[in-house]
Amino acid sequence: MTQETGGFAALGIHPAVLAAITAVGYEEPSPIQAQAIPVILAGHDMIGQAQTGTGKTAAFALPMLSRIDPARREPQLLILAPTRELALQVATAFETYASQLPGVGVVAVYGGAPMGPQLKALRQGAQIVVATPGRLCDHLRRDEQLLSTVKHLVLDEADEMLKLGFMDDLEVIFAALPESRQTVLFSATLPHSIREIAEKHLREPQHVKIAAKTQTVARIDQAHLMVHADQKTAAVLRLLEVEEFDALIAFVRTKQATLDLASALEAKGYKAAALNGDIAQNQRERVIESLKDGRLDIVVATDVAARGIDVPRITHVFNVDMPYDPESYVHRIGRTGRAGRDGRALLLVTPRERRMLQVIERVTGQKVAEVHLPNAQQVLDARIRKLTASLQPLLAEAEASHGELLDRLTAELDCSPRALASALLRKATNGQGLTLAEVEREQPLVPGVAVPRERRERSERAPERGERSSVHRERRAPMPLPEGRVRCRAALGARDGIAAKNLLGAILNEGGLARDSIGRIQVRDSFSLIELPEDGLERLLGKLRDTRVAGKQLKLRRYRED
Ligand code: AMP
Repeated sequence: MTQETGGFAALGIHPAVLAAITAVGYEEPSPIQAQAIPVILAGHDMIGQAQTGTGKTAAFALPMLSRIDPARREPQLLILAPTRELALQVATAFETYASQLPGVGVVAVYGGAPMGPQLKALRQGAQIVVATPGRLCDHLRRDEQLLSTVKHLVLDEADEMLKLGFMDDLEVIFAALPESRQTVLFSATLPHSIREIAEKHLREPQHVKIAAKTQTVARIDQAHLMVHADQKTAAVLRLLEVEEFDALIAFVRTKQATLDLASALEAKGYKAAALNGDIAQNQRERVIESLKDGRLDIVVATDVAARGIDVPRITHVFNVDMPYDPESYVHRIGRTGRAGRDGRALLLVTPRERRMLQVIERVTGQKVAEVHLPNAQQVLDARIRKLTASLQPLLAEAEASHGELLDRLTAELDCSPRALASALLRKATNGQGLTLAEVEREQPLVPGVAVPRERRERSERAPERGERSSVHRERRAPMPLPEGRVRCRAALGARDGIAAKNLLGAILNEGGLARDSIGRIQVRDSFSLIELPEDGLERLLGKLRDTRVAGKQLKLRRYRED
């Protein structure tokens, strides 16, 4: 075990749960986890004030899993979540954390999917039920005793549940639960209505909250960029093209992410290395030395591994994964702007993490301006700028030292000096695109990644006659498919009132797939495209042949773009 997982071990969670989080690469508890886990393990009721991005799911999942009795095949833990999307996310997180606990099952119960299979799964002895309140009440109407064995209750995003009007449903559920139970409530905000619920239904709850001291950050130019989680690497690569950095540190959350991003950067020719808690201390020191003396330019690190790094060359900090709290944000970006120099910090924010961004802005008292992904033209301009800068110092001697050789090469190759220069350029830049068309081909803008503002405006009006709209082409370029996935088409789209989460729920439920085997879902007006595993596709399509969503047939089939 590494010294860092010791952080979790010291909290007293079950060894099998510890093994599961070690396997996913968590190194140390986030602040909300460090505070909440001992309280929940001790059996107290608790109110946790934390929003998405703080690690709140694991903050209740890890201790609750440690308290479950796998031998008893009946519902023991109920988690209520405001939306089907969150319920599925929480259920997936529980599956991950329980992966080494044999005999522990998780059921997700939510609206918009048939009740039969959910009820069946419930009766098959799953100990953990993750539910949206409305659908759970539907089940309770059929079986009042459904929750009679539950010993622990978690209300996740309680403020959102109230906003969505679930108050009455919550009361029905409370009434169906045994009185003697542990109740944990998580909420980003604590309005009066939440306090009232806590007063009525929690017993001497302990309060857990991440301290939000005002922090000061000086001399650091901060910005954020909205991006989908699966497009972060593409976004980082694009940003690096235009950012003028000396040395850079990129923060991610897990060991695996350090390795994945560092190798993606190396593949593009950057001098990059990973730094995580699994790397021996002397090797870590070597990495930092290399960053200091320029043998490395980029280090991709977890918070633990980056502790204490003081390298004046660092001009940039990329927060590729969101920090758990504002303090950690301030700490991370403090790696730049050392020794009185200016620094730049970029934060990638996924749509769900917007709120965390607001908290950071509030605590630091500074606005973190939004920037957009550079477009192909900006990437090209940056490449040419770099090329010019690297050629400039060589020009003075070039003619004198290589004049004859050039004459000989043009003669031997029977080409013009222009053609020769062009071939040399290709070689010197490793075949990198050096025209707009080449850059666009190399880096198609993946739909979903924020499109630069001026391009968005242009794309919203129809291209004028004769105008080549690169935006249009970029947005329509077929997205590269991950290996082993194929694209399928469903006959339902936005005009049928369908959202991606409806399709996801239906396919997970009826197809029996794991959440991570389903890729991107794009809902168009009259149809939708879904990335599914190629392996077993025919069987899956067979299973889903009669599936209906929003009362209409899904009619899923393989989609071939041409
Ligand atoms: P949440 O705030 O529960 O939505 O969690 C945000 C993200 O942080 C999820 O992707 C988790 O997998 C990840 N995460 C939670 N706890 C840790 C940890 N201790 N170390 C690394 N990643 C974590």
